[in-house]
Amino acid sequence: MGSEIVAAKAYRHMWEEPVLTGKNGSGTVFFSGCNLKCVFCQNSAISSGGEGAIITAGRLSEIFLELQDAGASNINLVTGVCFIPHIRAAITDARKNGLTIPTVYNSGGYESVQALKLLDGCIDIYMPDFKYMSPEKASEYSSAWDYPDVAKPALKEMFSQTGPVSLSDDGIMKKGMIVRHLVLPGAVPESKRILRYLHDTYGNDILVSIMNQYTPMPSVSSHPLLGRKVTDDEYRRVVEFASEIGIENGFTQLGEAAKESFIPNWDLSGIIR
Ligand code: SF4
Repeated sequence: MGSEIVAAKAYRHMWEEPVLTGKNGSGTVFFSGCNLKCVFCQNSAISSGGEGAIITAGRLSEIFLELQDAGASNINLVTGVCFIPHIRAAITDARKNGLTIPTVYNSGGYESVQALKLLDGCIDIYMPDFKYMSPEKASEYSSAWDYPDVAKPALKEMFSQTGPVSLSDDGIMKKGMIVRHLVLPGAVPESKRILRYLHDTYGNDILVSIMNQYTPMPSVSSHPLLGRKVTDDEYRRVVEFASEIGIENGFTQLGEAAKESFIPNWDLSGIIR
């Protein structure tokens, strides 16, 4: 990406984890561009396809306030990794102009500690993925063999900024970290290694969201593993393992989550006035 912010949609998203969605939805801003290149990306139209509109940090700040005015539970920044300095400026500006709801940094987990330090004090909730423990899978699926070595210190930096999970009386998250893990077809052992690492490192001070919404995109339809969905048995084994090792706080998904129809339209709504 270049030096200007590009974003594709901003709206109240009703299907995030319940502690983020609340009654009125999570105020989600989808940014364009990404620093990973996942072969199964559902959002490839914006992550690598160039869709989106250029906006200023001032406009981004206004978008945050518009989402708050619409009743959003939080500001949910999806894949803003290419625009971290601009996001910092927009949040700082919006806070001066009345933004009070929590901010959520929602990412693939492939950030440098140096970049994350720019967000210290601006972000209330981090929601990174933890995608891979093996460099081989990270290389084959996301062109990032060093993913595990980058993600581990990134998550530690995120946690050091927010501390343990804190909820309001009505169950809305105020502070802390949710780590998402998307179970992939044929990768139950990999998922178990990740859950073991997360629990050994953070205990029950974080929320773990175990996702079964992997959807085979046309680009991987002939791949021997990625061409199919995760089976009920694979997902059940991962969830049972999480329970066995003592993970108490988190989320699982129902089967209907794996549908292409959940992918938003990138119509610039909420971005351009
Ligand atoms: S990290 Fe997410 S947005 Fe980026 S390429 Fe991977 S799946 Fe797509």
